[in-house]
Amino acid sequence: MQIETPPSEKPYEKPEGERRGLVIVNTGDGKGKSTAAFGLALRAHGRGKAVKIYQFMKVPSARFGEHRMFEQLGIPIEGLGDGFSWKTQDLDHSAQLARDGWERARAAILSGAHFLVVLDEITYPLIYGWLPLEGVLETLRARPKQVHVVLTGRRCPPEIVELADTVTEMRMVKHAFKAGIPAQRGIED
Ligand code: ATP
Ligand code: MG
Repeated sequence: MQIETPPSEKPYEKPEGERRGLVIVNTGDGKGKSTAAFGLALRAHGRGKAVKIYQFMKVPSARFGEHRMFEQLGIPIEGLGDGFSWKTQDLDHSAQLARDGWERARAAILSGAHFLVVLDEITYPLIYGWLPLEGVLETLRARPKQVHVVLTGRRCPPEIVELADTVTEMRMVKHAFKAGIPAQRGIED
């Protein structure tokens, strides 16, 4: 093995800007978008900050590992969807739920009551045309300065990427599902 000498120069300059709320995007087709957002929620909660998580594609009654743990920790997490799937689709209903859910999320962001608001899987209602992109952009722009917002989901609209401060694309190198291994409790849900 080739042993490298540690870098002697600092990797980046000391930032000169002011601290403020960020728009953070986790997108791409690999695994880890939602779990990274949950990790940030834990980190903020650990610092005593108010956090709110909205999930656009989960039902309000979802009881995944994260729901159980966030409940124990007192981090509010709210499913806004109807468990939409391509088999049992009632598109008008799903679209209406997404719009109602967005109104709640929007009010939470604009209220300034939270340090961090997570909009998990919000890209899907945007891509399906259930939510107008302009409304989401406008809310992000109009939010109180200190509020951080995390958005997750594949195929994030470029307008949101443009507006965001930190954008990470999870690239699929491999996924166990592709090798025929089914979803497992504690890993996928
Ligand atoms: P996670 O919630 O595990 O962080 P994610 O939010 O990045 O995943 P989503 O696109 O929201 O991924 O997908 C939801 C489900 O699909 C998760 O159970 C996830 O493990 C699975 N998944 C993620 N990426 C892939 C992939 N490339 N192929 C198949 N399934 C995937
Ligand atoms: Mg996800």
